[in-house]
Amino acid sequence: MIPEIERQSKAEIKKYQEKKLQELLTYVINKSAFYKRVFDDNNIDYSAIRTLEDLTKIPLTTKDDLQKYNKDFICVEQNEIIDYVTTSGTTGNPVFFGLTDADLERLAFNEAISFYCSEVKASDTIQLMTTLDRRFMAGLAYFLGARKLGAGIIRVGAGIPELQWDSILKFKPTYLVAVPSFLLKLIRYAEENEISLKNCSVKGVICIGESLKNQDLSPNFLSEKIKEKWNIQLYSTYASTEMSTAFAECKYQIGGHHHPGLIIIEILDENDKPVKNGEEGELVVTTLGVEAMPLLRFKTGDVVKAHNENCKCGRNTTRIGPVVGRKKQMIKYKGTTIYPPAMYNLLNNFDEIENYIIEIDRNEIGMDEIKIKLDVSNPSQELLNKLKDHFRAKLRVLPMIEFVNRDEIAKLKFPKMSRKPMLFIDKREKIEN
Ligand SMILES: [Zn+2]
Repeated sequence: MIPEIERQSKAEIKKYQEKKLQELLTYVINKSAFYKRVFDDNNIDYSAIRTLEDLTKIPLTTKDDLQKYNKDFICVEQNEIIDYVTTSGTTGNPVFFGLTDADLERLAFNEAISFYCSEVKASDTIQLMTTLDRRFMAGLAYFLGARKLGAGIIRVGAGIPELQWDSILKFKPTYLVAVPSFLLKLIRYAEENEISLKNCSVKGVICIGESLKNQDLSPNFLSEKIKEKWNIQLYSTYASTEMSTAFAECKYQIGGHHHPGLIIIEILDENDKPVKNGEEGELVVTTLGVEAMPLLRFKTGDVVKAHNENCKCGRNTTRIGPVVGRKKQMIKYKGTTIYPPAMYNLLNNFDEIENYIIEIDRNEIGMDEIKIKLDVSNPSQELLNKLKDHFRAKLRVLPMIEFVNRDEIAKLKFPKMSRKPMLFIDKREKIEN
């Protein structure tokens, strides 16, 4: 289940991707109204784009483009679309993606090789703790991937620790797919109900949505907190609807492996130029083998770092480290640049904190201000001081911190139409990127 190309040399991988790029360009020129227009308007001769370096001749595609010209991206007739998906729309209007039969097959293949990368085998059973419906791609991808791999799958869906444990004890899954902070809720439920974590069937968790690593790839506070109580393997994975591709960690857990047969990646700086090897920048992707809605040089908005040293697992592909942050959520605070995940990590270190929300606003003189709303069982000045000390020492910022009641946080954290909990609220005026 390791694609042949992933074991080959970096040069072979490049050559292979360049061949795939040719096929993609021919396809979009003929099928995509949006890209045909981009090539015509910019007088680009697509046959002159032969190498990965030539990609820079093609303008970037933004989330804004997807929203504005959504229909023009679709390369197939409506009757060829089988599954209808929308992006979660945490920023702006949700974008529609259609998947054809071939796209569903590609999605299944992507997830099967990603599961396999994270040591899941056909003999394993996976308990899925994420939404399978609500026009969500991820849950469906996990189901299809597990099926292709030949693994068993238990579709419990998100939340409800009691039902999760009932399924774990009944069906004895060996892997879970879950949001890491939900594992803390499972641990608490087990402790309260005398369920033995030690004798549990679960070996590992494919973790989605939250970071488990620091930028040097060491485990972060959240990861340590889980492992302290529950001796399981935690594999990070990174994916999005637009990419229709996952980056999954292998057993060495040093960043998610790139699948070169499915996607071309670039990492660009503020001026949209490639960063130097190992530097952080925005991930830009070109999807390969997508039929309904292929994307060329799509700006994901995620700031990441690539790791290019060879991995001991035998795959010679680039690995993507934990997401540093979303480019739009960058906070400039008195000369320091920070992203919300660094603050989540710090707050996760405090057992006293039940829930939190980070709010960013801009003051009259154009400076970003950080306000942290906390739900804690025993609010005290002592805790407040301790938190402030930590922020100053670790992140060199001093946010405003206030205690608020549980209901207020719950209302902010789970807005009506959102499929994911919100930890970050941006009240600054929208800046185009
Ligand atoms: Zn590896």
